[in-house]
This record gives sequence, C-alpha cells and structure tokens, in this order.
Amino acid sequence: MNEKIIISVKNLVKDYGEFHAVKGISFDVYEGEVFGLLGPNGAGKSTTLEIIETLRNKTSGKIIVDGFNLDESPNDIKKIIGVQLQTSGYYPGLNLTELIVLFAGLYNENVNALELLDTVNLRDKAKSKYKELSGGQKQRFSIATTLINKPKIIFLDEPTTGLDPQARRNLWDLIKSIQSRGTTVIITTHYMDEAERLCNRVAIIDAGKIIAMASPDKLIDDLVAAGFEKPKEVKQANLEDVFIQLTGKHLREE
Ligand code: ADP
Ligand code: MG
Repeated sequence: MNEKIIISVKNLVKDYGEFHAVKGISFDVYEGEVFGLLGPNGAGKSTTLEIIETLRNKTSGKIIVDGFNLDESPNDIKKIIGVQLQTSGYYPGLNLTELIVLFAGLYNENVNALELLDTVNLRDKAKSKYKELSGGQKQRFSIATTLINKPKIIFLDEPTTGLDPQARRNLWDLIKSIQSRGTTVIITTHYMDEAERLCNRVAIIDAGKIIAMASPDKLIDDLVAAGFEKPKEVKQANLEDVFIQLTGKHLREE
C-alpha cells in the first residue's frame, strides 16, 4: 500500500443546533487502504461519513478528497465516490438488473449489470426483486450499487450489522476483493473482530472526538505495553468457532 493521502479531514466540526456532534476531528485516509471508524452509537461516525460524502453540511473544518476541496468542488467528489444508498429507497417492483440499469442511468454510466452482480455473487438473483433477498444478499446488492460509477473510494456504514456469521464472513471477502482492485474503503462497524481483520487502520471516535488512531495491531500492542492483561483464555475456541465449525462457512440464504 502506498502512503498517498486520498482523504484529508482537518478540524471537522458539526453542530446540530446547540449539540456538538463532531468536535474538531482530523484524520487522513491513504489510497488503497480499508479505514475503519469505530465508536459507540452516537459517536458521530455517520455524521462524519455523510459530510465527506457531500450529503450533509459541516459546521467548520477542511476536507480534501482526491485533491478536491469539498467546499469548492463537491460535484467532482461525488463522481469518484461510491455511497451505499438507503435501502428503503429501492423501487420495490424492479428486479436487480433493472435497478442497476436505473442507477447506472442516474450516474450516466454504462455498466454490465450481470458482471456487476457477479462481483457481489448475485448473478443468479438477477431477476429477483430487492425485497426477495436475504439480509446478506441485500447488503451485497447495496455494495454493488456503490460500485456502479467505478469509484476510487467507497463508504460503508455498518454494512454487516444484523448479518449471520456466514454472511458477515462473505462480506469481508467481498470488501477485501474490492480493496484488492485498488479501491479505498471507509467502513464503520461495531464488530471489533471485523475491524481487526479488515482494517489497515482504525480511528476510535467517542462523543465527537478521535481518541485513538493506528493499525489494529499497533493499538493492541500499545495496550499490552501499557500493562493490560486479559484474564487467561482457558478455551482454545469460542462459541462462534463452534457455530462455524458445525454449520460451515457457506452461505445459507440462497
Ligand atoms: P453514529 O453514527 O456514530 O452512531 P451519528 O453521527 O449518527 O452517530 O450521530 C451523532 C450524534 O448526533 C448523535 O447524538 C445523534 O443523535 C446526533 N444527530 C445525528 N443526526 C442528527 C440530526 N439530523 N439532528 C440532530 N441531531 C443529530
Ligand atoms: Mg451511524
């Protein structure tokens, strides 16, 4: 991975009326990395993402995305990013192929719908309607829609929340494969095992402030170096290992 900064956020502040949701955060995202924003509910993760995505106004601060200043060139930013659309917005009567063609039209892009569905393992659902998909399939489809405009950066806000263990693992593979094609990924998640596996670096945000930022490895090493000791694990496996061992890694939704 190179160290070219593709997103630079400086002193970002967002107030909702009297309430300070984001309190002057700064971070950089490097091209080609998976960058995680971690933090409890209400920390300001979605607000931060939506501001970078040009969907929400900031109160103050400076944001540069791939050389474009958010204040001056929001439309240039829109062209190079992929944003997960709100699932409730999908036209219920259209099948997946028709939806992709529709979105491609909105982006003024030519896409091969079947090829795109292939990349998210949904080719055999090409004629299904969105509402007929399982939770994992819906998430994969919404990730497919982020890829329509061949973006340099995609934003995923809690893409695996509510999924079963198989579907989560499947989505990790998908995100890794998107990264391996050179796309930068910004993701939020409440699952620390997921962040540890997927993210090159994470920022931990709490009550509108970044309280730590580094690779998962570095954060863990720092904690251990500070004297933290975990109660010794007596077992060599956990219940999730049992579940995956018994039910297998393949997806069950199809
Ligand atoms: P997260 O995604 O980390 O859970 P959010 O960015 O959604 O957090 O929200 C951060 C804080 O801002 C929360 O306290 C939330 O209630 C508040 N908030 C979010 N959107 C609005 C809004 N449109 N108006 C007022 N407060 C909001
Ligand atoms: Mg959120």
